[in-house]
Amino acid sequence: MRTIGYAANAKSSPLKPHVFERREPRPNDVCMEVLYCGICHSDMHMVNDDWGMAVFPMVPGHEIIGRVIAVGSDVKKYKVGDSVAVGCLVDSCMVCDQCRNGEEQLCREWATLTYCGCDRIDGSITQGGYSKHLVVREEFTLKVPDGLDLSKAAPLLCAGITTYSPLRTWHVGPGSRVGVVGLGGLGHMAVKLASAMGADVTVISRSASREAEAKRLGADRLLVSTNKAAMEQALNSLDLIIDTVPVKHDINPYIPLLDIDGTLCIVGQVGPMPEFDSAPMLFGRRRIAGSPIGGIAETQEMLNFCAKKNVLPDCEMITIDQVNEAYKRLEKSDVKYRFVIDMASLKMA
Ligand code: NAP
Ligand code: ZN
Repeated sequence: MRTIGYAANAKSSPLKPHVFERREPRPNDVCMEVLYCGICHSDMHMVNDDWGMAVFPMVPGHEIIGRVIAVGSDVKKYKVGDSVAVGCLVDSCMVCDQCRNGEEQLCREWATLTYCGCDRIDGSITQGGYSKHLVVREEFTLKVPDGLDLSKAAPLLCAGITTYSPLRTWHVGPGSRVGVVGLGGLGHMAVKLASAMGADVTVISRSASREAEAKRLGADRLLVSTNKAAMEQALNSLDLIIDTVPVKHDINPYIPLLDIDGTLCIVGQVGPMPEFDSAPMLFGRRRIAGSPIGGIAETQEMLNFCAKKNVLPDCEMITIDQVNEAYKRLEKSDVKYRFVIDMASLKMA
């Protein structure tokens, strides 16, 4: 089917209107009109080809809220008119141990990404949610629970699940002590979700100016990483730290903040990091870990949790023609806390 999106035609180039063909829906496909799409920092990494996996022209976008406009003959869970969502994944092998475990993001044959992925049947390159329509197989389509505000839910599909998953993996609940580094799209969701799970939440920031903001989002305190005395006082005080910083950075100051058996989970920077000192790891049996998004079942669980607890991201709504300006602002961390594109602003040519 013919549709329109906004695409980058080359590395680091501005996004422009782009008419392209989506595959004709297969029997197990859901076809949707995209209503809203969040802008993740990963979209910017991909357009800049920071990870060496970009394919151009590229229509980014993996925080997608849509309305079903057609379903294939084998589709059972969805019907025309349903509110649905799609995140970072649109397919996986579905037969390996990880897929059978509901961990499609860890598929042994690599899951198919929503954009810059390779369709497992026809080999075409997948295109993301900054577009009018999307065609996705039923198993990778999520249900938007009743009561979740559609105009704000999009960022849950990446920022939400990427922070929800480590909180669940490390069994966060009442009494847990969680630190969050980097108060951006992912970071502010980590604060809201950990707080909704009953944890005691510390935002770790380079600047004291974020204190009121951190508390408004649900944090119990702000720890300023440049304040030596405060950092010393906070030694051994956290069970889990979620590090969302999007660039190479020094994690050494954060490790001793963990208590015995505590975990520093990196979800931001993908790639080399500076050296770290193993001494606080050995002597405190501390761990450094990483975590990629989450599986489909866990993403549905997260959406249901957010609907039940009324956890929603703080969004700034933009029109599609403002997307290049939004990228410039995101680069400077000038957004509270997620841009969401109102896709009604994108008209078919
Ligand atoms: P974002 O909205 O830009 O937020 C990043 C935050 O990190 C900023 O708000 C800022 O917070 C802090 N920061 C920025 N530059 C920094 C620097 N040079 N040193 C220290 N802190 C800095 O980005 P996002 O959308 O949350 O994404 C964050 C990272 O997660 C990106 O690299 C993205 O690709 C990655 N990601 C990973 C996954 C996954 O599956 N693991 C999924 C989605 C995204 P402060 O002002 O508080 O310092
Ligand atoms: Zn993302």
